[in-house]
Amino acid sequence: MDWTRLGQEFAFIGRIVDRLKPSQPPAEGFHLVQGIGDDTAVIQTAAGEMLWTSDMLIEGVHFRLDLGDPYRLGWKALAVNLSDIAAMGGQPIFALWSCAFPPECLLGWADRLVEGFLACAQQYGVQLIGGDTNRASMVVLDIGVLGRATCRPLFRSTAHAGDRLFLTGSIGGSRAGLERLLQDGWQKAEADDPAAVETHLKPIPRLREGQLAAEQGASALIDLSDGLAGDLLKLCEASGCGAILWQHALPLHPSVTRLAQEKGFDPHLFALVGGEDYELLIAVPPDWASECQQRIEAETGTTLTEIGFLTEERTLWVKDPSGQHLPLPAGWDHFGSSPSASATPSLPRLPTQWQQG
Ligand code: ADP
Ligand code: MG
Repeated sequence: MDWTRLGQEFAFIGRIVDRLKPSQPPAEGFHLVQGIGDDTAVIQTAAGEMLWTSDMLIEGVHFRLDLGDPYRLGWKALAVNLSDIAAMGGQPIFALWSCAFPPECLLGWADRLVEGFLACAQQYGVQLIGGDTNRASMVVLDIGVLGRATCRPLFRSTAHAGDRLFLTGSIGGSRAGLERLLQDGWQKAEADDPAAVETHLKPIPRLREGQLAAEQGASALIDLSDGLAGDLLKLCEASGCGAILWQHALPLHPSVTRLAQEKGFDPHLFALVGGEDYELLIAVPPDWASECQQRIEAETGTTLTEIGFLTEERTLWVKDPSGQHLPLPAGWDHFGSSPSASATPSLPRLPTQWQQG
C-alpha cells in the first residue's frame, strides 16, 4: 500500500468508523461504553469499567536506534500506553507486547529493551501476560494495555464551555530533546541537555494525577501525545467547544527557552506543536478547579498550571500578553513528515500571525 496516499491519520480513522457496521451486542455482562474516539476503549463489566488501549512505536517513525538506548526505548514503549490509561483517569493492570526485530538485531540489545519495559511495568504495577515475537525489516513494538477506572472514566468529550484548563508538568521538553538528538547525535545531546533528552527518551505517565482528576470532579481529560495544540483541538472537537489559551501561562520546559534562544524561534509556538509531552490536559468546572489543582499538587508533587479556559465559540486562540489573539497552530500528524525519521531538525510551518509576532 502507498502510505503516502493515505492522507491524514485522523481521516483514515474516520474511514474505519464509516465502515463499522452496527454490531451485535457483545457477550452478556459486557457493555461497550466507549469505542473508537478516546484515549482508550471503555467496557462496562461486572468487575467495573475496564480500559483497553494499544499503541505502537516504529523505528524510523518514533525512534532511531542510533539516537537512544534500548532500555529507555523499552520503558517508553510501555509508558506511552500507560499515558493513555492515565488520560482516562485509570489504573493499568495487564500488558501484552508484540515485538518485531531485524535479523541483525543483537540479543544483548533486545535484553536491555525487555529490561526497560519490565522496569516501567514494575514501577506502575503492570503485569506482562503475553505478546508475540517476529522478524521485520525494522524494529516495531506494539503494546496493548488493559486497565480499569478507579473512580469513573474521564472522556475527551465531556468538557463544557467555561471549564478551566490545567496542564501537568511542562511542555516542549521532549521535542527539544529530539531536536538536540537530531542535530548533535546522542552522545553530545545527552552531555549538553540531559534533561531534555531524558524527557524525550523516558516519558513519565501521569497515572496518579489522572486518577485524582477523576476523583476531584474534572470534566474531561486527554494526554498530550501530538502536542498541546493538536490534543486541545481533539478535546474541543469531541466536546463541541472552543478554547482560549494564555500564551504567558504556558509552562515551558527550561530546555525550550534555551533552544529557542539559540535558534531564534518562538518558544511558545515550539512548545505548542512539540509533541510527545505525555502530560495531561485537564478540563475542570470552575467550582471544582482550585480544590482539584491543590489536591493533585499536594498528593503527587506535580505542578498543575492553569493555561486558559473553554469557550462556547468553537475556535481556538492563543492570547498573547498584548491581548492579541493568535490562531492555534496544527498539531502532529503521523502521516505527515516525521521528525524522528528526518536527518535534519525542522520546525513546523508558522501561521503568518506568529511569524509577524
Ligand atoms: P491517542 O493519541 O490517544 O492514542 P488518537 O487520537 O491517536 O489516540 O486515536 C484516536 C482514536 O482512534 C483512538 O480511540 C484509537 O483507539 C482509534 N484508532 C486509531 N487507529 C485505529 C485503527 N487502526 N483502528 C481502529 N481504531 C483506531
Ligand atoms: Mg492519548
